[in-house]
Amino acid sequence: MAVAQGDRRPARAGLSLTRTIEKWFAGSARDLPWRRTRSVYGTLVSEFMAQQTQIARVVPAWERFMARFPSIQALASAPEEAVIASWRGLGYYRRARNLHLAARAICHDHGGVVPTSEAELRALPGIGHYTAGAIGSIGHGQKSPIVDGNVARVLMRVHGRDVDSTSSEGRQWLWSRAREFVEDSRSAGAANEGLMELGAMVCTPLNARCTECPIRKYCKAAKAGAQDRIPTVRKRRARKVVHAQVIIARIGGRTALVRRPTRGLWARMLFPPTIESDRVISKGALARRLGVAVDELHLGESFTFLATHREVRFRLWIAGAAASKVLKASHANEWTWHSRKALARASHSSAMSQLLGG
Ligand code: SF4
Repeated sequence: MAVAQGDRRPARAGLSLTRTIEKWFAGSARDLPWRRTRSVYGTLVSEFMAQQTQIARVVPAWERFMARFPSIQALASAPEEAVIASWRGLGYYRRARNLHLAARAICHDHGGVVPTSEAELRALPGIGHYTAGAIGSIGHGQKSPIVDGNVARVLMRVHGRDVDSTSSEGRQWLWSRAREFVEDSRSAGAANEGLMELGAMVCTPLNARCTECPIRKYCKAAKAGAQDRIPTVRKRRARKVVHAQVIIARIGGRTALVRRPTRGLWARMLFPPTIESDRVISKGALARRLGVAVDELHLGESFTFLATHREVRFRLWIAGAAASKVLKASHANEWTWHSRKALARASHSSAMSQLLGG
């Protein structure tokens, strides 16, 4: 929806818009721990953590992570298991692996210094267009544009233009506007962070607080009363339902775990043995499949876990002592058995903690 003609802002209006946001941010920025230290490494960690995660959850995780790995060298030389364990509570563990690989590449290929060029940043694992812009501008003070959900919404409303941010045309438009915006800045980091902060705190998706907004006079959507219609709310694709039958087998105080596949949810993590299917498996069918007596399986807790694209419906099956022995013998090469203490160290995903009552 175009509210008024012309995406190109008058040069001076654009300049004022950027400067107004920088000024507003100087007085309104939330006090976040990585903003106090302002190290490029700290920014890198915060940007990986903040992807798809609320800031309230990122703050304690960032503090814990930085205490454990205070430098990029400390992170690069740590074993993967330690990095994954320190990611506890944040989910999307692929980010932790990518951050770890990025730290290793920075130490190996760039002498331990986070690179400045967009091309070198984007060559690092887990760093795309947005993160490269955030590291470039917030970490290095370069005039690199950023577009995330908050930035996209503010830009669309200010320019009175509704675009589909998933289309290539929409993305192109947004990145061009973001580039113009940051080009006008005195401090690229403050301008970009301010734009994101405004989207997070004032120009929110469902309740734009226009009367309190510092850039109201530049905003075409507010002038047209169209702030609630821009951007159009697009339907999310329905999550795929997965039924997960989880086997809790214990022998002598040790619980069976198995390494998950290299791709998909909880990739490469230790997890209780799980049979996934697109429909519920009956107790009898499960017992036959496992090769145990049906009365040796006891239904435990059931709960649903919502991931970005999947809805995983867990059903716990507690194997009796005889069934656990059968399972140990039949899965001798795949399953490993862990004490309570080892489980406490390994149970780093929230789903697994719930499965094992942690
Ligand atoms: S005036 Fe309203 S719609 Fe425009 S940027 Fe500010 S909060 Fe968003």
